[in-house]
Amino acid sequence: MADLRTREGHALRVAIVGGGVIGLSCALELRDAGHDVTVLARDELGDTTSARAGAVWFPFRSAPADRVLAWGARTFERFEALAADPATGVRMQRGRVLHRSPAPDLWWTVAVPSVTTIDDPAELPDGVLSASECTVPVIDMSYYLPWLQAQCDARGVQTRRTEISALEEAFEHGELVVLAAGLTSNDFAADADLVPVRGQTVRLKNPGYFEWTIDDANPDGLTYVIPRRDEIVCGGTDEEGEWGLDLDPAVEAGVLERVRALIPELREAPITSRAVGLRPGRREVRVETIPDAQGRPVIHCYGHGGSGVTLSWGCAEAVAALTAQL
Ligand SMILES: Cc1cc2nc3c(=O)[nH]c(=O)nc-3n(C[C@H](O)[C@H](O)[C@H](O)COP(=O)(O)OP(=O)(O)OC[C@H]3O[C@@H](n4cnc5c(N)ncnc54)[C@H](O)[C@@H]3O)c2cc1C
Repeated sequence: MADLRTREGHALRVAIVGGGVIGLSCALELRDAGHDVTVLARDELGDTTSARAGAVWFPFRSAPADRVLAWGARTFERFEALAADPATGVRMQRGRVLHRSPAPDLWWTVAVPSVTTIDDPAELPDGVLSASECTVPVIDMSYYLPWLQAQCDARGVQTRRTEISALEEAFEHGELVVLAAGLTSNDFAADADLVPVRGQTVRLKNPGYFEWTIDDANPDGLTYVIPRRDEIVCGGTDEEGEWGLDLDPAVEAGVLERVRALIPELREAPITSRAVGLRPGRREVRVETIPDAQGRPVIHCYGHGGSGVTLSWGCAEAVAALTAQL
């Protein structure tokens, strides 16, 4: 692997604030580049936003398009390789993005090796004019996050379950700080652009159904179906500026109605669990070095919106590249 230490070739002590999919991916990438890495994370893995993601490879509510496509394409390749090992929880899975307008915006397909257009009405649900069918990574976060954590542990990344209240505390653990605290990054960066985008899901027992579906132009509300190994994640909502973490039974009823209309095979599947998460929404994903008031380097890596998993490895590589410029 390329030497991505610093310009002078030094290994650094790096403190990463955040142990979600972004913090842990950055930790592995920086560790593999030869740095001494400590992750400072407040929440258990299962309590992060990352654990609530579907999660399918699909750029949703993230910009700018050129960087998102580049990070997304790299992440696609990394996940494709990880899918060879079932322990990762990553699978390459066929599915469809449904289109309800005659001229859908297919910008994201640039990062996908092969996409087929389905336009035979007999193969499409009512109201759907066409679909993009492709095979992309589907990441079962209930396996993937523990796998990422185990990789960090095995490679010597230190993890401390602790809440940081100021970046000063993070500098006690490293001479470089990576800020990867998702929506909470705002507490340290005072970033007016960072906003919650609330997402509610309901999970069904998986009856052996593995195709994913995204119907983000459904007139009755955002709809997606993402099979995990044991459950099927059904969503959803994307309410910008909403901080509420309480489950809304009316939202759930709407999601179930839309999902069952699209996929009759799921009509009888019982509910197994429910979740609400706050996506870290931002006008643009932030991956940049901004020195603190004392001139110490802080690499900001947050604001991934609905694409944190989709962009994770590409952004982690970008963070390692920024470190190499220090
Ligand atoms: C319903 C839903 C569905 C989604 N589906 C998808 C999908 O299909 N595909 C996709 O790519 N993305 C999806 N996303 C988006 C994805 O979940 C996020 O973009 C991603 O999880 C962001 O990761 P993160 O590591 O930045 O943040 P988080 O997962 O929120 O992690 C933040 C970390 O920072 C730590 N932290 C916070 N504050 C502090 C502090 N003060 N001190 C120490 N540690 C702190 C937390 O404990 C945690 O470890 C979905 C999101 C939701 C809500």
